[in-house]
Amino acid sequence: MIEAARRKAYGLALRTRRIADREYHFLEEHQWDSRDRILDIQKERLVRLLCHAYKKVPYYRSIFENTGLWKAGDVDLTRFNQLPLMSKAIIRKNFEALKSYDLSARRWFYNRTGGTTTGEPFTFISDYEDGWRSGGAVLRWMNGWHLIRPGDRELKLWGLPLDLYDGSFSLRSRFSNWASGVTFLNAWRMSEESMRRYIHILNKTRPRLLRGYVTNLYELALFAESNGLAVHSPTIICSSGGTLYPHIRRKLETIFCCKVFNHYGSREQHNVAAECSHFDGLHISAFTHYVEVIDENGVSCPEGIEGEIVVTSMTNYAMPLLRYRTGDRGSLTEELCKCGRGMSLLKKITGRSMECFRTRDGRIIPGEFFVYLFGVALDTGIFSKLQILQKDFDRVLVRAVPGVRDKPEAALEDEIRCKIRVVMGESCAVDFSYEQDIESLPSGKFLFTRCEMETGGSSLLDGSK
Ligand SMILES: [Zn+2]
Repeated sequence: MIEAARRKAYGLALRTRRIADREYHFLEEHQWDSRDRILDIQKERLVRLLCHAYKKVPYYRSIFENTGLWKAGDVDLTRFNQLPLMSKAIIRKNFEALKSYDLSARRWFYNRTGGTTTGEPFTFISDYEDGWRSGGAVLRWMNGWHLIRPGDRELKLWGLPLDLYDGSFSLRSRFSNWASGVTFLNAWRMSEESMRRYIHILNKTRPRLLRGYVTNLYELALFAESNGLAVHSPTIICSSGGTLYPHIRRKLETIFCCKVFNHYGSREQHNVAAECSHFDGLHISAFTHYVEVIDENGVSCPEGIEGEIVVTSMTNYAMPLLRYRTGDRGSLTEELCKCGRGMSLLKKITGRSMECFRTRDGRIIPGEFFVYLFGVALDTGIFSKLQILQKDFDRVLVRAVPGVRDKPEAALEDEIRCKIRVVMGESCAVDFSYEQDIESLPSGKFLFTRCEMETGGSSLLDGSK
């Protein structure tokens, strides 16, 4: 009875957020359109954003004119791939010029992110409408592909704000989580004790959807297996925040007895692409994102050839980030999926490499914790590049390339030390090393967190270390 009322109330509440609701119905309706029709809609939305960028975002005006993208009072889309790529360094340098003139008329916020792939934390501006559309509506739509409906029970193994590490949600958040059917489990807290509790909660709440970072889901599966624990089988698992290697997918499917669907997105871009039940790649949310794959010379890769993924989110008007370099790698295919949806597929996504850290008492700290710490919990722009190494159970080394300042003050080092100790333990020594640059792996991947202990590390990497 209460459950039915909760679902009904939540369904009604969703409808009051009109922009997101309208967008959701638009996506539902048009996903079955022909590829050409979808490309037309995408072009229409891209042109709308580009007109806005030309007229209201100072940074783009001369660039559009010089590249010929703006010609005779209109957008020439054939010149789009001539636009310089957007990077975190450009955003930092041109922050004011990238703001839309009409910001005061919009609801917006500072979006802080850790830059998982390259270890470059940064801040940008996001409008709320962007979140409601490319975040909320797209996620609801993608969940619907697997018959997961708003209000269905969901268990979310996610990174929570550090001040909630030992505390709990506010009353308001607890009510909103209850209404939406979502139970959060703290991904920063993966001790044996907490993983046992998480499995107990999984079995008790019996969610239809289990969502989490690849690393955490994998650790939870291994823990259940090695301890012989019975686990509830959700309808589906959605993994994100890292590379879903085939051996991880197999393990998750074996332990949880359900299918695992890979999602691709980020804090900057929200939900960019997701797998359907044909597992033939990830369908790009072509109505909200324009995705390119480019080679090292910045030229578009032919179909099926792997390169860097470049994304333009078509819903952030507050600070349009055109042709944003993700640092992730993948390839595009124009093949049509058997499911009948017309959106193109993104294949072979790799690139975000992070290793888990381990503590002497058996806790596992996912790399995402450090992404959160340096990108969200602390002020950004202090470092332009970072790598965090675990040297021993109680020794962490922060390698950093200083950003705007030469070297942060001792007080900031102390703050970082203190925050790392919250998860790694009070006795953990945290050293700093300031460098000109931090090298990538021979494979070209950048390892944001690296466990150098022989007994530790993560079995996540595919031998590319
Ligand atoms: Zn499909």
